[in-house]
Amino acid sequence: MKELSVMTQSGGVVAQRAHSSTSGWPIVRVCFMVALLCLIVTCFIAPSLATVLFWGVFIGVVPAVIVIAPGVWRNICPLASASQLARKIGITPGLRIPPKVQTYSPLVSASLLLAIVPLRRVLLDSNGLALGVFLLALLGMASVGGLLFGGKAGWCSQFCPMLQLERFYGANPLRRVRDTHCRPCSGCAKNCYDLSPSGAALADITEGGTIRKVGRTIFAGGMPWLCLAFFTQPDLSSFTFGAVVTLYARILVIVALGIGIFRVIETLTQFTSYQIVLAHAVVTIDLYYWFVLSGAAHSMGVDLSVLSYALMATVVAVSMRWLQTARRLEQGYKRRRTVVICAPTRPKSNILQARRFVPLFQWTTGARQVMAKASRTD
Ligand code: SF4
Repeated sequence: MKELSVMTQSGGVVAQRAHSSTSGWPIVRVCFMVALLCLIVTCFIAPSLATVLFWGVFIGVVPAVIVIAPGVWRNICPLASASQLARKIGITPGLRIPPKVQTYSPLVSASLLLAIVPLRRVLLDSNGLALGVFLLALLGMASVGGLLFGGKAGWCSQFCPMLQLERFYGANPLRRVRDTHCRPCSGCAKNCYDLSPSGAALADITEGGTIRKVGRTIFAGGMPWLCLAFFTQPDLSSFTFGAVVTLYARILVIVALGIGIFRVIETLTQFTSYQIVLAHAVVTIDLYYWFVLSGAAHSMGVDLSVLSYALMATVVAVSMRWLQTARRLEQGYKRRRTVVICAPTRPKSNILQARRFVPLFQWTTGARQVMAKASRTD
């Protein structure tokens, strides 16, 4: 595969061209959209089955997909398909998110996630009807966001609650699969994750400005503790205001404790913020699968079996490999301050597209260097 390096004045990621075939993705997207619609219908006609399918199967598998190949999930997510529909048929006015809002959007999507996770214990885990309404609401927000805003700015690249998880678990994809929605890229997001999954996290932490860096590190600091707090929290038995507040307070206090511990590690050790974020990602994914696998074994009425231990050992081995390769990314990033993105199939047409943008780019494809004007996305 050819690679194309882009260096911008801000270190931000601004453009991408992919050269792989995209012919199969629309079919897979349609399948996943149909699956989501079927799941929503199931929520209303067989609520118990729907909660098992969604929380037990889907939410059990997706984090692993994001660690291994986040691009696959970004390409097939039904909410992404819904939000990109208006763009595909050309009926969006393509509004832009102001730079100031973009600065704070990671905090918005992280806050949404932090609100949704405890809501599982309050309502969503046990109530299939509530799950159906919740999924419909997400589908509606993604569709309206995509209808109004250009690129993925209305949902996937700014406000989706899964985005922060994708950037966290997917900071070092073991298998790189390029985005096939954004053709062409409209520069809708600062340090876009779809352009460079590993470069985007590094750019945010090292050069994204105080708010974005603090947002990333707060999120990372809280995640292992959110996982621990969630899995040790039983479902709410009595649905009263006081019980709901107590449940949220317990989880948020534990998350705050984790953020404090992150700060202590950052202050007292020589590790970089990025290295501590990576370590937190590994701990979170290992903890998550420990609880998921032991929960699955328990629900099948067996003690943690040999198979569960073998699966857990695999998760730990994969996450260690992930950590090892991710650390090298930081060294490369510091050395070059470049972001590696995909080469165009037709370089000429992509250089023409890049002229829509403003600041200066330097592209390197093999021995060739190309200078072009392009826009900042920050
Ligand atoms: S999400 Fe926005 S910035 Fe990222 S590739 Fe798509 S259009 Fe470009």
